[in-house]
Amino acid sequence: MRLSKRIEKLPPYLFVDITRKMAQKRAEGVDVISFAIGDPDLPTPHHVIDCLCEAARDPANHRYPESDGLPQFRQAIAAWYQMRFGLTFHPDKEVLPLIGSKEGIGHMALCFIDPGDVALVPDPGYPVYSIGTLFAGGEPYYLPLTEEKDFLPDLEAIPPSVAHRARLLWLNYPNNPTAGVADLDFFERAVAFAKRYDVAVCHDGPYTEVAFDGYRPVSFMEAKGAREVGVEFHSLSKSYHMTGWRVGMVVGNATMVDALMRVKSNLDSGIPQAIQLAGIAALEGPQDCIPEHNAIYQRRRDRIVETFNGMGLRVRPSQASLYLWVRVPPGYTSVTFTTKLLEEAGVVVTPGVGYGHAGEGYIRLSITIPDDRMEEGLARLAKLTF
Ligand SMILES: *Cc1c(COP(=O)(O)O)cnc(C)c1O
Repeated sequence: MRLSKRIEKLPPYLFVDITRKMAQKRAEGVDVISFAIGDPDLPTPHHVIDCLCEAARDPANHRYPESDGLPQFRQAIAAWYQMRFGLTFHPDKEVLPLIGSKEGIGHMALCFIDPGDVALVPDPGYPVYSIGTLFAGGEPYYLPLTEEKDFLPDLEAIPPSVAHRARLLWLNYPNNPTAGVADLDFFERAVAFAKRYDVAVCHDGPYTEVAFDGYRPVSFMEAKGAREVGVEFHSLSKSYHMTGWRVGMVVGNATMVDALMRVKSNLDSGIPQAIQLAGIAALEGPQDCIPEHNAIYQRRRDRIVETFNGMGLRVRPSQASLYLWVRVPPGYTSVTFTTKLLEEAGVVVTPGVGYGHAGEGYIRLSITIPDDRMEEGLARLAKLTF
């Protein structure tokens, strides 16, 4: 048999090496502590689980769901955007539930990218933006996110010849992996860029609810003119600790939402209905889990910042997201420093270069690690010399 070029051309899985070394360490009997994965360690709120259990017993939920979801779920998504951002979306035209936002992000490329087209993709960034582009036969053009520019892409620096070939612009704030944040002024500049070059904007915003010190992230859709050029992906994964349930959404430009619906209706049969009902319970139910989770994350963030500062490494405390983006000390690359932390402390972090060339010189730590494991890991790190 012969695999397709799109499979053969896939870049090697970024963390294969780390995963292999981690397994090796564990086999040697080392108690490995991982700060690597951005997956909430705390459980889904009880009322959401109760709803799922009940819905699972109802035979009406045992059959094929609709690709575009239950009308009540689309309405709950629209109502949540109204409550959270004061934005009004037509539940049947401007809202589409997704089997986790990753699914919609990956499929969106099929709506806009023909062979040879360009997608503008942040570097470092969530790998799905560029892989989706490659699967559709397109070319990612990387926009470096640097600390000097507050991890915002310099849209003015994109050569017009590239901008004219671009069909999609991917943005992600609060950002994974840099923890950078964006304000409405930046989003409005992105809208202006999109209009100038006729580029569709996809804003990926799964971390709008994960924020600290009273900071409230904005939605891209609040930017003036955003609805004319773009959509926003959001997810229940991080906000409600539902990563394992696979439920997210996209809202915004009706043409873009409809195009994604047309792709999806030919590839999948939607989100299991019991999970959609649980999604409604999350969006419409009590919201106190969000500040509760954020208080826990903020405390962990502070402990990690404190420890790294004590080690002589300057760390910007993240205002939002589940990550800390830490510059490696002089003389190390992101990979050699990651290896040192594993070898000498049994602590796993991810090398910044795994998220793109511009991630070189950084490591990413996730704050989704139980407090006792985190404290043990930090105690070991504090003893290192470099
Ligand atoms: C976690 C994450 C997602 C979303 O995930 P789903 O679980 O598929 O909804 C999307 N984008 C980024 C940048 C993420 O970190």
